[in-house]
Amino acid sequence: MASVLKARPRKAEDIENLACEVIKSFQPDALIQLKKFDVEEFFEFELKNHTGIEPDTYNFPDEIDGCTDFEEKKCYISLNLMEYGECEVTRRRLRATQAHEIGHCFLHVADARRNQKFQQKFVNDKQSSLRMYNPDDLKAYENPEWQAWRFASALLMPEHCFKRAVECNWTKKKIKYAFDVNPSFIEVRLKELKISARLKNG
Ligand SMILES: [Zn+2]
Repeated sequence: MASVLKARPRKAEDIENLACEVIKSFQPDALIQLKKFDVEEFFEFELKNHTGIEPDTYNFPDEIDGCTDFEEKKCYISLNLMEYGECEVTRRRLRATQAHEIGHCFLHVADARRNQKFQQKFVNDKQSSLRMYNPDDLKAYENPEWQAWRFASALLMPEHCFKRAVECNWTKKKIKYAFDVNPSFIEVRLKELKISARLKNG
């Protein structure tokens, strides 16, 4: 198992704020209304302007969803995800993957430029999601994968919007459609924000 190198430590709050800044610059109404962030559009048309990293696609094997390569200055998304067809679960996984890779571009591009020893390539495979919660590994706030996933949650479900949905007793299904995310991502968000309320499914 490849080791994850430490990133500059980041507090959850700082990552949340950074994601809000990105939303504000591109789609400010997504910070006011409970609606989906157009991550597909941002990824394709805005990412390079903001970070210098060019979006692209790649024919990865099944277990890899995306990869950000700072040496090549490219951010690749798996063709398997892009060609989601009728599958809504895959389409929403594509959104989460794009949000995660955008996180790497905003959080880690400066670190990678400053320090050549810093990890230059982040592969989003099943291993990296396991590593993200491996307690033997790194403290969460120094783990670049944890940082990029936290950014992804905040980009697709801004904290105050998500909390408002929970306070209004929205069901999991309603939240899923409003923010256009998979239910597993909603569960992660509840834990991240330490919300103990149980959402109704229907
Ligand atoms: Zn990653």
